[in-house]
Amino acid sequence: MNLCQRRQTSCGACCGLYNREDLSRESVRAELERRTLALARVPRTPEAFRVAARTLAADGPAPLFPSVRICPLLGFLDAGGERVGCLGHPKATGGADLRDCGAYDVLTCDAFLCPSHAWLTEEEAEIAATATGDFHLYGLVITDVPFLRAALDGVAARTGARVLLRHLAHPPFRAALERLLALKEELAPGSDGLFGAFRPGRDGEPVPRRIDYDALGRPASPHDEILTCVGADPRSGNDLDTLESEVRERLDACARAFPTGGTTRR
Ligand code: SF4
Ligand code: SF4
Repeated sequence: MNLCQRRQTSCGACCGLYNREDLSRESVRAELERRTLALARVPRTPEAFRVAARTLAADGPAPLFPSVRICPLLGFLDAGGERVGCLGHPKATGGADLRDCGAYDVLTCDAFLCPSHAWLTEEEAEIAATATGDFHLYGLVITDVPFLRAALDGVAARTGARVLLRHLAHPPFRAALERLLALKEELAPGSDGLFGAFRPGRDGEPVPRRIDYDALGRPASPHDEILTCVGADPRSGNDLDTLESEVRERLDACARAFPTGGTTRR
């Protein structure tokens, strides 16, 4: 299974795509376009790519997490600016492998697969790619397995039917599911909900996320699983009540748009 380059879209999260204060689609896109344009004029040699990468990195956005690298070789692979990917990869350069000129080295880039590869099923990956449909949202969702599963479970709890890829062939449901998943794009900068998948504990396993309802003086939300995944608490800079009502409304919309007939009951 390849989560990085899918038929519908692609991801650049581990190359540092989201490691910036301003995560808006417009700003992220502008940075990718800047790199793509600049690198298109650079000779395909390690020397020239190294110099270009250094310049691009120096002029790029400051990292939100300084310990996480941002690779200046991540850009758009297509003329339309829809497919994000590595501009130092031999398939992008036309032959030379220039990934050593980026934030890591060829071996690291070649070998790395994020934990989602081990956890997600092919069906879940296809649902995420089909529902999101663009690199910005896809990368945020595909790297957060608990969030994707919580969202799909939330829909299933309302409809009584597991969400399957074929349900996304119904455009109103696909759009409603995209809106639910788009919660990931609407969170405060630096929120746990954005980067939760990258917070390992001492044993390397993800640290469980938890909303401290006692401290907030209110009972647990029936949507706790999704809210926990998006970091819906003051610690993350997000407003719990606002996000809770958004989750409820978007789940309701998914249930209303869910295709009837021929569904698989749980
Ligand atoms: S974060 Fe995962 S899916 Fe995204 S590019 Fe990296 S390895 Fe691929
Ligand atoms: S060189 Fe490595 S880190 Fe940089 S964009 Fe390519 S794959 Fe990502």
